[in-house]
Amino acid sequence: MNGQMMDFPLTITSIFRRAETFFRAREVVTRRPDKTITRYRFGDFADRTRRLLRVLQDLGVQRGDRVATLAWTHAHHLEAYFAVPLAGAVLHTLNLRLHPDDLAYIINHAEDRVLIVDASLVPLLERIRPNVKLETVIVIGHDGTVKDAVDYESAIANAEPATDLPDLDERAAAAMCYTTGTTGKPKGVLYSHRSIALHSLAICLPDALGIGECDAVLPAVPMFHANGWGLPYSCAMVGAKLVLPGSHLDPVSVLELLEGERVTVAGGVPTIWMSILQTLESGQRSYDLSALRHVLVGGSAPPASLIRALDKHGIKVLHAWGMTETSPLGTVARVPAALVNASEEEQYRCRSKQGRPTPFVEIRAAKVEGLVPWDGQTMGELEVRGPWVTSGYFKDDGADRFTADGWFKTGDIATIDESGTMEIQDRSKDLIKSGGEWISSVALENCLMGHPAVAEAAVIAIAHAKWAERPLAVVVLKPGASATADDLRAFLAPQFPKFWLPDAFEFIDAIPRTSVGKFLKSALRERYKTYRIEA
Ligand code: AMP
Repeated sequence: MNGQMMDFPLTITSIFRRAETFFRAREVVTRRPDKTITRYRFGDFADRTRRLLRVLQDLGVQRGDRVATLAWTHAHHLEAYFAVPLAGAVLHTLNLRLHPDDLAYIINHAEDRVLIVDASLVPLLERIRPNVKLETVIVIGHDGTVKDAVDYESAIANAEPATDLPDLDERAAAAMCYTTGTTGKPKGVLYSHRSIALHSLAICLPDALGIGECDAVLPAVPMFHANGWGLPYSCAMVGAKLVLPGSHLDPVSVLELLEGERVTVAGGVPTIWMSILQTLESGQRSYDLSALRHVLVGGSAPPASLIRALDKHGIKVLHAWGMTETSPLGTVARVPAALVNASEEEQYRCRSKQGRPTPFVEIRAAKVEGLVPWDGQTMGELEVRGPWVTSGYFKDDGADRFTADGWFKTGDIATIDESGTMEIQDRSKDLIKSGGEWISSVALENCLMGHPAVAEAAVIAIAHAKWAERPLAVVVLKPGASATADDLRAFLAPQFPKFWLPDAFEFIDAIPRTSVGKFLKSALRERYKTYRIEA
């Protein structure tokens, strides 16, 4: 016997109507390219989004068509986040830090018909344009220099707001992002209305980010990185004020917004928070961060030392794990009820793990021999499933990334303990395999970054005649600080088995970064590919 509840579609349209109906007075704040701040309300956002929807319809955008954006984090981009899916089309956010050749590949692969681009990114577009087939380019802040382009502002001003919002199937594609994989061609992940609606709800749960109407949320994560981590949709759903930093992700700009807009929740990769910490520690100026409840940190693992140091400045880290393929939120490291009275030490240990899955996301870890026990010790490849986990890639079933029983193989190596708390040990390709044993580069890096002289550290595998691979630590020292290889090895020694300790240390000026601010270990591997560690 079936239940009798309505089969009501879970769509972005519903999120939009809610923002438009209940939260008209809530603010959207944007930092412009010239650093000035503009603000409007969700009521204005709704009116402009309906106009953009009409513009897209008049351009002939059909259901299922891909409409790309090449844009920073601002209110216009937010309008596209909604207008494109409301039209039944697919919002394709392009990573503006990619090489033009990769962007051309992605645009062609996705078969984007329309592109919405920031005027400041037109020079990048010009390098791509000869290699792609785009029917229409819409420029935000158009100064007339792009031939045949539509000017975003005048198109909006001239369009009547669309009054009827199309009825949409919750399973229809609403958005797509390409993975920023470091090997092979980028792959497209297609989100549905349903997956985005459910993911938006999950983010707002009290044991996830706990976002509500009274919050002011600053995504210090670009809107092209995994749906801006879902924050734009969640904030519209609950009516939280959105504080959009534009292209200004330097520490002082972010700190100014956190203080000036009384931000309660922010999100960003560890490198953003590392630079914010350095700015705060330089003591040049103090900031009133008393409104800030917590900052979501994910994308790579924040070292425990970073979590502690930020706490001292009133910035409470909420650590989460996710992937483009998981929308992205997968797990959150909240201190569980059983540990609320545990020692500070134990709570920090817990908060620097990746945590437990959000409702409806399930996790397990496997080795070739089978599933690994939840003992907090045995490493295996993390596998996930859930309603906002991808089941394939665009034009590619990605068969090698799925198990026979339908779980997604993340490529992350993890342990899971008795309580279900997951800890990422490494990407499988970054794991160091020494004499048949696995060494976690992440654990070594995180410990090294707790040394007072160390600003950044990355550990990579170096080929070794006897052990197959051995660890090399690449270290950036803080300005004016000093430490030798022996100092650092002695610092690590009490915490790790002897065979884990890096054989060599190299000191460099900066660790190369990926397009979304993670350490680019493939560049380090390339740089040190002829490095020799004596047997
Ligand atoms: P992307 O799809 O580019 O966001 O990359 C996803 C990958 O980032 C994951 O598979 C992990 O390897 C890594 N990652 C994301 N969040 C974390 C985290 N909290 N700790 C460690 N690694 C993470």
